[in-house]
Amino acid sequence: MGRTHPINLQILLFAPDSKVDVIITIIEVMLIVMRTAYQYKLKPNKEQVSTIELWLDLLRRQYNYRLGERFSWWEENRCPVNACPLVMPIPQLRDNPNYYSQKRDLVNTKDKFPSYKLIHSKVLQDCRKQVKLAFDRWFKAEKNKQKLGKPRFNGIGCYRSFTYPQIKLDCIEENQINLPKIGKVKLIQHRPIPEGFIIKTVTISRKADGYYVTLSLEDKSVPALTSKVKPTLKNTLGIDMGLKEFLVTSEGELVPIPQYYRKSQQRLKTLQKRLYRKKKGSKRWLKAVKAVAKQHKKVADKRKDFHFKTANELLLKAEVIAHENLNIKGLAKTRLSKSINDAGWGKFLTILTVKAGNAGQKTIGIGVNPKNTSQDCSNCGKKVDKELNIRTHSCPYCGIVIDRDLNAAINIKNRAVGHSVLKARGVRRGTGTGKREAQTIASA
Ligand SMILES: [Zn+2]
Repeated sequence: MGRTHPINLQILLFAPDSKVDVIITIIEVMLIVMRTAYQYKLKPNKEQVSTIELWLDLLRRQYNYRLGERFSWWEENRCPVNACPLVMPIPQLRDNPNYYSQKRDLVNTKDKFPSYKLIHSKVLQDCRKQVKLAFDRWFKAEKNKQKLGKPRFNGIGCYRSFTYPQIKLDCIEENQINLPKIGKVKLIQHRPIPEGFIIKTVTISRKADGYYVTLSLEDKSVPALTSKVKPTLKNTLGIDMGLKEFLVTSEGELVPIPQYYRKSQQRLKTLQKRLYRKKKGSKRWLKAVKAVAKQHKKVADKRKDFHFKTANELLLKAEVIAHENLNIKGLAKTRLSKSINDAGWGKFLTILTVKAGNAGQKTIGIGVNPKNTSQDCSNCGKKVDKELNIRTHSCPYCGIVIDRDLNAAINIKNRAVGHSVLKARGVRRGTGTGKREAQTIASA
């Protein structure tokens, strides 16, 4: 995928004062570094499993400790503005623990707890970086008055992965990966690393069905290119993500939510019911917990697989895929939340965007203003109000009768290509819709 700078992009795209309804901004990305990630299953032996587990637990404690250090500084060095005494001796301010001070403190940790010497030092450092990231994220959200939970302390077994921020280029040899301080671990390499890519970081993680390694790969040899695809009536496909179907295209094709996915979800429900009946803490309960966790992973895998297949099929059909720029978080709070989270549209759109970037540098995914896509007539542009349960769009002005979702998909396509019907009407722009405005994702 083209690794662009998402923060800058958002500032560009969500500019609330922008005069156009559909911002068709195709960003020219000057410097592109191709990045992708491959995940393989690991087959560690008993000794390696115990090493990995020991590390995970030590890192968990380290993470909690460093997080606590930051929290306590935060608590000690501030007071509410209405309770601040006018006269008071100023105590010596403790140094605010940051990434570097905590990194320097590494020596003390190793001194007091020699078992930390067993962990590769770069892995230990990375753990501290995770603390920094979690804390910064929270801090930033607080500042912007967004709701984001405090970073949490991790309970036993809840710290699930660690990362080598650097690794030797030739760490993989014949179905084995050489992990510093752990040794050569067997891995199932179901597909080879793509040519020209080098391994940047290695993450080991524990999942319900065993251990996995995630390699983040980078290809710097890709030339810096700029690509421009202008959405036109010919090269653009609109998709409407529905509740009944997974999506409907502007060509009238349906992509249903697959049966196998529904079935695996049913199975999950059954297993969850079984779990509730078991006595907490018992052997049977523990077994049931494991079964539920495994099924959760299965459901997630199937969904991901389905998303990838669907994205690939769409990208074969058109150069530009236009979709509603959904405010998933806003929608998820409504009564539709179940189906929205279920279908995982947000995840699908992410995959589509990444795939669009990968697909020969010529396809793009484009998000359009979702306002009234299902109400407006795709034929004449007049607004035809209808409740959610009305499945057909039947226009009293021009007489067209089509499926509700198909009507929406055509509207989405029209918005992406800047169809004249819409321009003539000049959709009203309310405040507060700025965040749901058009989003173009052009990764070259
Ligand atoms: Zn009409």
